[in-house]
Amino acid sequence: MEVQFLPGVGPKRAELLRKELGVSTVGELLRLYPFRYIDRSSFVRIADARPDMAYVQFRAKVLRLDLIDKKRLSVWVTDGSGEMEMVFFKGIKWMVEKLKPEAEFIFFGKPTAFNGRINIVHPEVDPVPENGAAKVSGGAMTGVYPSTEKLKNAGFTGKMMTKIMEAAIDRGLQAERETLPEYLIRQQGLVPLHFAMRNIHFPKDMISLEKSRYRLKFEELFLLQLSLLKQKYVRSRNTNGIQMPRVGEAFNKCYEALPFPLTGAQKRVITEIRNDLKSGLQMNRLLQGDVGSGKTMVAVLTALIAIGNGYQACIMAPTEVLAQQHFKNIQKFLAPTGVKSALLTGSTKTSERREVHAGLEDGSIGIIVGTHALIEDNVVFRNLGLAIIDEQHRFGVEQRSKLWRKTSAGAPPHVLVMTATPIPRTLAMTLYGDLDVSVIDELPPGRKPVQTIHATEGKRPALYNFMKEQIRQGRQVFVVYPLINETEKLDYQSLEAGAEDIMNKFPFPEYKTAVVHGKQLNDVKKFNMDAFAAGRADILVATSVIEVGVDVPNASVMVIESAERFGLSQLHQLRGRVGRGSEKSYCVLMTGHKLSKESKHRIELMCATENGFELAEEDMKMRGPGDLEGTQQSGLPISLNIASLAKDGLILNAARECADAVLKEDPTLSLLKNQPLKEELRKDKYQIKDYSKIS
Ligand code: ADP
Ligand code: MG
Repeated sequence: MEVQFLPGVGPKRAELLRKELGVSTVGELLRLYPFRYIDRSSFVRIADARPDMAYVQFRAKVLRLDLIDKKRLSVWVTDGSGEMEMVFFKGIKWMVEKLKPEAEFIFFGKPTAFNGRINIVHPEVDPVPENGAAKVSGGAMTGVYPSTEKLKNAGFTGKMMTKIMEAAIDRGLQAERETLPEYLIRQQGLVPLHFAMRNIHFPKDMISLEKSRYRLKFEELFLLQLSLLKQKYVRSRNTNGIQMPRVGEAFNKCYEALPFPLTGAQKRVITEIRNDLKSGLQMNRLLQGDVGSGKTMVAVLTALIAIGNGYQACIMAPTEVLAQQHFKNIQKFLAPTGVKSALLTGSTKTSERREVHAGLEDGSIGIIVGTHALIEDNVVFRNLGLAIIDEQHRFGVEQRSKLWRKTSAGAPPHVLVMTATPIPRTLAMTLYGDLDVSVIDELPPGRKPVQTIHATEGKRPALYNFMKEQIRQGRQVFVVYPLINETEKLDYQSLEAGAEDIMNKFPFPEYKTAVVHGKQLNDVKKFNMDAFAAGRADILVATSVIEVGVDVPNASVMVIESAERFGLSQLHQLRGRVGRGSEKSYCVLMTGHKLSKESKHRIELMCATENGFELAEEDMKMRGPGDLEGTQQSGLPISLNIASLAKDGLILNAARECADAVLKEDPTLSLLKNQPLKEELRKDKYQIKDYSKIS
């Protein structure tokens, strides 16, 4: 049924609901849940009103009305404990008629502070019921629904939403089909859908509300997991993978020549990968590891297994700088193996490019490192068996699927996605429901903790002295400016001003400063970057382009300017650039004096912990998972209505276990008892792309 046919809606309001809230059917309306509830079961005394109160109600008598400039109606009321002003800018005529002095009403709204007094703007006004009790339709708790400016302007008050919702329950609830099979409802101790919907909108009492909330959250998370896991089940039954039974000589040679023993976590992850590669099924694995945890090593050894089985491997990086760095880094590990590798990026010269293309086609190049240039149509592999993707979120879906199509061996290449964005486990499970997840949760031994310090402008002279001292001791320093928006002029201005200040205070030739930012030509960027990496420059002033990957173990200080403008995970990534050598390292967070509550919290967290996962959990709690950096583009395949990945971890786990059990028994949902689930997954929102095919 269409919303417009509900009493009190009509075509105009229906159109608004559709445009503003995406609701066109009664079923969808019923799935628009309150985001909080107002307790209308008791009155607050005017004398006790505070501006930090949520919505509350007063029972008060009208004292007098003042019309100011014909625009503002001020109604003074009292309940004996004190007086308060109710303010109206709209519907003035109507209010003047209704609010007769001496008459008593129930005023409901949010107290705000104005000119040192407390008032309520546009309260809802109800007559006092016969028995004098605080009665409202539907029960003592009233739901508050999402709204928008446009809806408010069109007169969609909370009261109206409640009325419409009442009508929706009345006329539409019977038509809503139960989404979960009877046996699951019993097994999981859930309340039925109709009970849940009735009580989520009009709670009978707190217990019914809690039960209903749990049921709806469970349903939402369960169906999401079910749709993702189903793909995984289908894939693991259908997608043959390239058999890589051997470890191979190249792997062993590299392994024996390693200058350090692998950490326990690295060994464990390599075993997991190894099992995938010999399973005969295609690997789709996400490798998570904090900055500096040694993912590159795992990538190299994985690539060498592919080589050992007669296949080629590619390593794709999101930026030119990173690709070069990877290429350079892996050379020393490849040296003892004799495996030929090459680099292919946008700035590879034509003649060189031709050579690389030929080497890939005839198979003489075993490992290719590169950027997007790798997925161009004219790149042909002899037999690509493995694709390693670094920092996957920077690759578009389209691009990844292109890489996929470069398959040669009948079966698709194995895929290993590496990310340093520590995604909380619950979120990773949901985002990558169809990927297996490996975690390197251990840093190589001997890492010195990075000391993180928060400072404001007044401390700048002290900071510069400290930098000079570090440079005297032979260390190098990063100074990073935010570049949130590539096109933001202001960002470049602050970078340029900052660089100039540094060059003044750190004069050449005693000090050498290199500057790197996105507007430079690639050659210039590379020249400056190399100068710093090779130790020819003491200070690198840069935008956050250096965020990922750059490895300069001799750098011991990371100064982050306007640190309040960065997100937590970005700050953490940047800090990971230091602390890689044997010297004690420092991260200095420069901020303005005035910080928002959230910025302050972020900075404090940074100073308190170096644990990326802890930070990511906090980040998610603060910002909600939708905003989590790095997951933004990959995003959740469907949006959640009521459950929160940050807060409902326990329900998520229960839902996942349940989904797993259902699919174990019935991978294609063909059993009669699972028909409701099969039906449900046919809905549009679950027709998500097969993520295994695009990662
Ligand atoms: P990530 O890519 O995860 O940020 P890297 O692979 O760049 O980390 O490793 C960071 C540094 O640690 C590199 O210099 C690397 O050579 C070194 N490293 C890697 N594994 C180990 C290990 N097991 N023991 C000691 N050092 C290691
Ligand atoms: Mg790395």
